[in-house]
Amino acid sequence: MARETIFSDDDPGDEGGEFDVNARVVDERLRPQCLEDVIGQTKVVERVRVMLDATRKRNDTLGHILFDGPPGIGKTTLATVIPKELNVDFQIAAGPALDAPKDLLPYLTNAGHGSVLFIDEIHRLRPAVEEFLYPAMEDFRIDIALGDGLNARTINMQLKPFTIIGATTRAGMLTAPMRDRFVYREHLDFYEPEDLVEIVRRNAEKLKTTITDEAAIEVSRRSQGTPRKANNILLRTRDFATLKDPDGKITTKIAQHAMKVLEIDSLGLERQDRRYLETVITIFQGGPAGLNAISHSMSVPSDTLEDDIEPFLLRTGLIQRTPRGRIVTQKGYDHLDIAH
Ligand code: ADP
Repeated sequence: MARETIFSDDDPGDEGGEFDVNARVVDERLRPQCLEDVIGQTKVVERVRVMLDATRKRNDTLGHILFDGPPGIGKTTLATVIPKELNVDFQIAAGPALDAPKDLLPYLTNAGHGSVLFIDEIHRLRPAVEEFLYPAMEDFRIDIALGDGLNARTINMQLKPFTIIGATTRAGMLTAPMRDRFVYREHLDFYEPEDLVEIVRRNAEKLKTTITDEAAIEVSRRSQGTPRKANNILLRTRDFATLKDPDGKITTKIAQHAMKVLEIDSLGLERQDRRYLETVITIFQGGPAGLNAISHSMSVPSDTLEDDIEPFLLRTGLIQRTPRGRIVTQKGYDHLDIAH
């Protein structure tokens, strides 16, 4: 393995309240290690398999890939599985941590033939860094500016052919030239309930924890359609089982008790999600309310609202996005049991 950099601490998934099951629980044991282990996302996995098989057969370098989708949906997982399948080196960089082109240099010069460089939150690359990346992606070459004034000159450096895998929660925020440089673009959507149950079951096994079928369904039902939340809830629930069950078994009763303490409701909403709805209802009379106004009222960055909170509320029809702002729907009022 070549360089590996740990993710920047401003991962949007890391924000939240004290009972934050959103937080990135670092349990690498649960991350799928090969494509075979990846549950759900069958169409995407099928297409990735074709990319890999064709690349291997041609003895070629894999084209650049962009994964987009909400946080905790499996973008990093797929990006880590691909180099393992190809048996090539892997480096990880976080878009917002790359302040200037020189910060990219070590990654690019280190990139071995056919290796993979994963750039998380690629929509947050600074323009200068992004422009520096264009010739690297297109022609495997970089232009390094040396000196200034009369002494200024540019050195052209050839790189080894390599693959960039970009991940973004906001495909729409990517500039067109950046988006066009990806040969493959794949969107990861929320998981089917049965896939989440399978993830919970398999991960309980990895953790050597027994979980009843109903409890696995209960955990997955509250996970807002993402494996990360399912895993985090599983880990938190396991703590309750360790303390409350003589065999440490996760039963429905224990799972339900854990959800109550963790303040995860029947739809899987956490405190912060309910606070969002309450804010729009009580301060903005149910909307329409602008994102920034909601962000100020809640003292939560608007990025966090857009990335972490709104996708699930929109998908479950608790809120709507209109040109004039966000609106809480009748279903949203009903869920909180507030008269409309
Ligand atoms: P993202 O990069 O989209 O934020 P990750 O790839 O970090 O999400 O996924 C979060 C966690 O969910 C991973 O650590 C992994 O354990 C689990 N996970 C993600 N996708 C899958 C999957 N398809 N099958 C099983 N587990 C998954």
